[in-house]
Amino acid sequence: MKTIQAYRFALDLSPGQERAILAHAGAARVAHNWALARVKAVMDQRAAERTYGVPDEQLTPSVSWSLPALRKAWNAAKVEVAPWWAECSKEAFNTGLDALARALKNWSDSRTGKRAGRPVGFPRFKSRRRTTPSVRFTTGTIRVAPDRMHVVLPRLARLKLHESARKLARRLEAGTARIMSATVRRDGRRWHVCFTVDVECADRVPAEPMSVVGVDVGVAHLAVLSTGELVPNPRHLAGAQRRLRAFGRVLSRRTGPDRCTGRRPSNRWQRAANRLGRAHARVANLRRDGLHKLTTRLAVEHGTVVVEDLNVTGMLRNRRLARHIADAGFNELRRQLAYKTGWNGGRLIVADRWYPSSKTCSGCGTVKTKLALSERTYTCTTCGLTLDRDLNAARNLAAFATETTAGSGPVAGRGADRKTRPGGQVATKRQPGIASAGQTGTVPPQGRTTDHVLTRAH
Ligand SMILES: [Zn+2]
Repeated sequence: MKTIQAYRFALDLSPGQERAILAHAGAARVAHNWALARVKAVMDQRAAERTYGVPDEQLTPSVSWSLPALRKAWNAAKVEVAPWWAECSKEAFNTGLDALARALKNWSDSRTGKRAGRPVGFPRFKSRRRTTPSVRFTTGTIRVAPDRMHVVLPRLARLKLHESARKLARRLEAGTARIMSATVRRDGRRWHVCFTVDVECADRVPAEPMSVVGVDVGVAHLAVLSTGELVPNPRHLAGAQRRLRAFGRVLSRRTGPDRCTGRRPSNRWQRAANRLGRAHARVANLRRDGLHKLTTRLAVEHGTVVVEDLNVTGMLRNRRLARHIADAGFNELRRQLAYKTGWNGGRLIVADRWYPSSKTCSGCGTVKTKLALSERTYTCTTCGLTLDRDLNAARNLAAFATETTAGSGPVAGRGADRKTRPGGQVATKRQPGIASAGQTGTVPPQGRTTDHVLTRAH
């Protein structure tokens, strides 16, 4: 099986190397901003001419914003715009121009309806203060040094790795991997190099190919599995909140930068900002580590993983829940499950968001019309089954997989054409208490297969 994988390693840079990389990242920004200004000027000019009633054929000719066209224009202008251009690798300018070409394409696709999802805004100028320094190399000598503790990149030469790159090196030596690009960027306070690698990996099978596991994600427990296992929610952000608040308070008392007066931040402000940034990066690292371990375990063990399609964007609009939901990382969990089940020869089934996983009895299949969010234990009035609410939901999700695959395949019932209204309903699991008008009468009479669509991620 051929896939694209990323190998990410932390770097130990010398101050000189860090300066060189920052210079490259700055070059990317300059090229991006220059090209954006040029595209914008022509667009504004044409818009202005139209208001004067200039016919279309006499307008200022439009400029192409494809990557090759942007690169050509940059190469013609770089002597004027950036007389220092030869000091940086051409890949640096390419990084900025590529980002702009994608951004413009996304914006125009979004405007013409070719791109789904939230509307994409017009690209903005990159600020030196706010952009993450990053540069990507796609050509030239990109390799892992034989000692596996260094990487070699064009212009930047040998960079020391913080950890051994043996896993990638082994693949490269065996000829089962090909490096497509290498990106150097600063995440939080730390530099990383990230290789995009075309990998030829052996076909894998999950440990138990026939096993089906339903995963009910939530805030009380990060995940409840249909096997009865409860995965606790580590709540890293909540745990770090005290420290973060204290660091933020300290930062607010230091003399920070002021763009109006041009005041530079004090050294003490910079130290405090570093400390706060590191604390946030740690939270992100802990969260990522936990999610990776959980999703890898699920994908390696089980043949079929069933999750629920949660409207996370909608849930994040709820002020009280947003922080907890973002801290749990629901979307990331599902994203990782999607590709990891693919790698391991398993599959991921996503139950649509109106599948009544919480309200159905996992014993007899009765669907309750009402179930308050506060009811943590599910008690069936028909068969008398009593069990934890989330476990009941997880079991229903597992049953969902067998139902849909044993039966006639995907069933698009009357629930299929239902859409979440833009800006509407905040809660995602369909609970009577919070469903908005018009959506409360959607519980199927009995039996569960009529009211959902099946989406298969792989
Ligand atoms: Zn029952």
